[in-house]
Amino acid sequence: MNIINEKVVEYLDGQYKTLRPELFVIRKYAEQNHIPIILKDTETLIISLLKVKKPKRILEIGTAIGYSASCFAEVCKTTEIVTIESNMESKNIAVKNIDMLGYKNQITVLFGNATDVLKDMEISEKFDFIFIDAGKSHYKDFFDEALKHCEQEALIISDNVLLNAKTVSDEYDPRSKYKTNIKKMREFLEYITNLENIYTAVIPVGDGLAVSVLGDMND
Ligand code: SAM
Repeated sequence: MNIINEKVVEYLDGQYKTLRPELFVIRKYAEQNHIPIILKDTETLIISLLKVKKPKRILEIGTAIGYSASCFAEVCKTTEIVTIESNMESKNIAVKNIDMLGYKNQITVLFGNATDVLKDMEISEKFDFIFIDAGKSHYKDFFDEALKHCEQEALIISDNVLLNAKTVSDEYDPRSKYKTNIKKMREFLEYITNLENIYTAVIPVGDGLAVSVLGDMND
């Protein structure tokens, strides 16, 4: 189930503008091949946040075929981007797409399970913008590992936190097919919305976006 009224989605999608024609080709390829990438309204919001934040280094968890990382590179021309993908085939397509788009020197694609990759990463490697968009039942692990690599006033964006409204109510999962993912996502949201010195807004855009802002709340 779409979390937003279908007519609203249709209207907003009608206003969508691609950042680059080549990126639109990759979006179409992903849609035709059932490769999940950021939804159009999610992309628009993240791009707006990037324009405000102007991050120096971005970490992405979940590359797929490199679409979102390439959008980030297109908007933040001097920002270094590190993205992690656990599926070799997707990683290889991502590297090809990134090369073809000319972002090879800006985006590094790391292969492996993001939790392990982050555990092995030098603690001195810091990021001020983090996008979590991988295995939905591992968000807490991703978030905790990512936190260790955050600059003081970083922004952490977690995508798909409403799981097509399943996070909100079990009635949207009548056969209990996604029971574990739902339980874990509810626990994750409970966790991040109660952390000290991190302010989180859960926004009903796309499939639900949690925007967490780090920093001392008394500042
Ligand atoms: N961010 C991409 C975009 O919008 O273009 C889409 C990412 S897709 C929703 C999620 C990706 O995360 C998949 O390609 C999947 O293979 C990868 N993934 C799942 N679990 C992972 C993990 N533990 N570590 C790294 N990547 C993972």
